[in-house]
Amino acid sequence: MSRKVLVLGEVREGSLRNVSFEAVSAAKTIAEGGEVVAVLVGKSVSSLASELIQYGADRAVVVEDEKLAHYTSDGFSQAVLAVIDQEKPEGMVFGHTSLGKDLSPKLAARLQSGLISDVTSLEVVGGNIVFTRPIYSGKAFEKKVMADSFIFATIRPNNIEPLAKDESRTGEVKSVSVEIKDLRSIVKEVVRKASEGVDLSEAKIIVAGGRGVKSEEGFKPLKELADVLGAAVGASRGACDANYCDYSLQIGQTGKVVTPDLYIACGISGAIQHLAGMSNSKVIVAINKDPEANIFKVADYGIVGDLFEVLPLLTEEFKTVLV
Ligand code: FAD
Repeated sequence: MSRKVLVLGEVREGSLRNVSFEAVSAAKTIAEGGEVVAVLVGKSVSSLASELIQYGADRAVVVEDEKLAHYTSDGFSQAVLAVIDQEKPEGMVFGHTSLGKDLSPKLAARLQSGLISDVTSLEVVGGNIVFTRPIYSGKAFEKKVMADSFIFATIRPNNIEPLAKDESRTGEVKSVSVEIKDLRSIVKEVVRKASEGVDLSEAKIIVAGGRGVKSEEGFKPLKELADVLGAAVGASRGACDANYCDYSLQIGQTGKVVTPDLYIACGISGAIQHLAGMSNSKVIVAINKDPEANIFKVADYGIVGDLFEVLPLLTEEFKTVLV
């Protein structure tokens, strides 16, 4: 059964987030040969529409307004609901990001539809779209089929392969004017607390530190390795609680859930709550001076040693290969 499926293109600091391209790929599967329409909401975002088309969307609809310069659930839901009303799709896909997690349930509730969140893969089986999503903090996976006729889904970053970019691909980009009214909150400015660099939730490589780094200064060798690898720096709650780094870096049950290609855990014991946020990483390397540390149970490669000796050696070695 072919469907028309919308995809929200998520913009951060003037660029599309990678998860938007992954969402286009997921929407293609759900569309089963039907049309995939990218939706862009914001201020001065229309120039990004062509990139979503190059990644597989058939066309794009753009809603631009000064009041949409920063995300608010009120403003964005008005914009997206107006597009849904015009386009009459049978599904919509979002990234499982802070924005997607906030906006998608609101829209699903408005349309009295269900929502399948945090999807890590999807396939067509016997005419049904079967979604796979983690449960029990990633210890098991469930497969679900949507009973409603409208399919709302959020997809976890870094799990669904985007389609190859085709720069010759073109499609219609339509501007839609929506009157944004009665905003209950207005965002004046967004101040990023986390340091510049690679976004943690979409990073392909993460170098994470725990209480074993011992101080804020102790994160320096992790940052040096991260710079060489083009990686993001993350942390355990132990490191955040000890004030070695900001809570925005926390990975785990009560922090961010990440699935990079490579996760390098430094001085992290491997508590169950930490594993809940990173155990689905494709390759895990653990550096810990305690050979009995729990982190080694989930690690693909373990280095028993002092992180302050091991990390500079790794950084030097990678420099000779990569820089
Ligand atoms: P520790 O357990 O103290 O481990 C430090 C490790 O560093 C040790 O294994 C030690 O051998 C090693 N080490 C020390 N020095 C060195 C060195 N020089 N070189 C190499 N290794 C060294 N935790 C999270 O991470 N994320 C969460 O989201 C989270 N949510 C939680 C939610 C709840 C409700 C609760 C109760 C707890 C939560 N926790 C979470 C906390 C979790 O239980 C652990 O306390 C925390 O993960 C421990 O952090 P850590 O591994 O950095 O510290």
